Amino acid sequence: MIKRTFIGLAKPRLEYDVIDETLPAPVKVPKSKKVTLLSYGPWDPNCVVNVKNGDKVKTGQKIALNTGNDVVSPVTGTVSSVSEFTDGKGQKRAAVSIDVADVEEIDENFASFTKGQDFNQVKLYLAYAPGKPEFSIFSDADKPIKTVVICGADSDLMLVTRQYVLKSGIEDIKQGIKMLKKITGVQNVIMAVPQHLSQTAASTGAQVKVIDAQYPAANPFMICKDILGQVVPAGKSCEDIGVHMMSAEAVASIGKAFSLGKVPSEKIVTVIRKDETKALVSVTIGTPVKDVLKAVNVIANEGDRIVFGGPFTGTAAYSEDQPIEADADALIVQDSDDIPLVSDYPCINCGECVRACPVNIPVNMLVRLLENAMYEEAQNQYDLDSCIECGLCSYVCVARMPIFQYIRLAKHELARMNTVEATND
Ligand code: SF4
Ligand code: SF4
Repeated sequence: MIKRTFIGLAKPRLEYDVIDETLPAPVKVPKSKKVTLLSYGPWDPNCVVNVKNGDKVKTGQKIALNTGNDVVSPVTGTVSSVSEFTDGKGQKRAAVSIDVADVEEIDENFASFTKGQDFNQVKLYLAYAPGKPEFSIFSDADKPIKTVVICGADSDLMLVTRQYVLKSGIEDIKQGIKMLKKITGVQNVIMAVPQHLSQTAASTGAQVKVIDAQYPAANPFMICKDILGQVVPAGKSCEDIGVHMMSAEAVASIGKAFSLGKVPSEKIVTVIRKDETKALVSVTIGTPVKDVLKAVNVIANEGDRIVFGGPFTGTAAYSEDQPIEADADALIVQDSDDIPLVSDYPCINCGECVRACPVNIPVNMLVRLLENAMYEEAQNQYDLDSCIECGLCSYVCVARMPIFQYIRLAKHELARMNTVEATND
């Protein structure tokens, strides 16, 4: 990783935020009248939906959408629509909307599975819990997982979600680690946390490693390299080298689910207002963004931008009706006057992006191919697959080229082309 400042010696390092002790406890967002649940997997016209319009669902009831991509209702209510939804990355998914009832009824199946230690069933329910604990990865015989890293550092600048969960939910995390080991059989669990939370993390009994304060040290690929000493080869994932990352919130969800006998449905989100002040909220998964903003007195006007995630890696929302998903750690609202401009100016070959890139990609060359949609050439000639998607190149680009967006689009298109080819085989 680059240890120098990357935009010049006079500029400060880009450091992750440290949770402020004076930050008030999370605001509880009132239950919405309607929630929308999105499948994780792509839309499949033949997918199995166990519900249809008019069906009643209970809190914690499993709604199977695609095999392995089950959705669990976080509310009690009546299904009002089942439709196709295109997300911010262009992926088509299934969306189930539920009109929320006044009186909550709990589906008891999950509790019976936890009591009977039927972990195969438990895993399917937990995939929709806050932090999105993923268990399917542990069943892939071709990629045996040997190490689980629990990340208590936030994934992007300005966020404090994971830090808050680690500080406030350490008992849940302790229980979560115990159950995680039991369910997966993986005994090597490491907590990767910022320096100020290392003592808290140590109380779990897990091995603790400290993540550097400089962005992008909490990126999973950087954690593999800097903390585990294992480099993920280009085009591969952490799982390919036997490492699986889970957020502190995901592990807390596992612990809470076993303690309470129900699937947790409230997640923590950092909301960053237009003036860059922060608020933490506790919100039911599936709640529309507009209800979250209302709870913390934020008004998004015409032309303002709402971003899911952090300033470097977030994705713009195109509607305030978009729901909060299980892994949504942050919402940023940017005033229309403050939105950083992108341009169609040509690259001036200043080299700032190359100096910023933590994996030494020749970004100045890469971008020339990407802006002409030459994705395969970018992959073969300029190391597209090594990109860890930190967004630093876009941040430093003096010509304000949307480099990161080009990279994401290229990866999306290449993955789509591979799928089409595999289907035609
Ligand atoms: S996003 Fe940009 S800076 Fe970050 S790894 Fe990819 S090419 Fe390098
Ligand atoms: S920072 Fe922007 S202008 Fe400078 S070399 Fe990279 S792409 Fe070109």
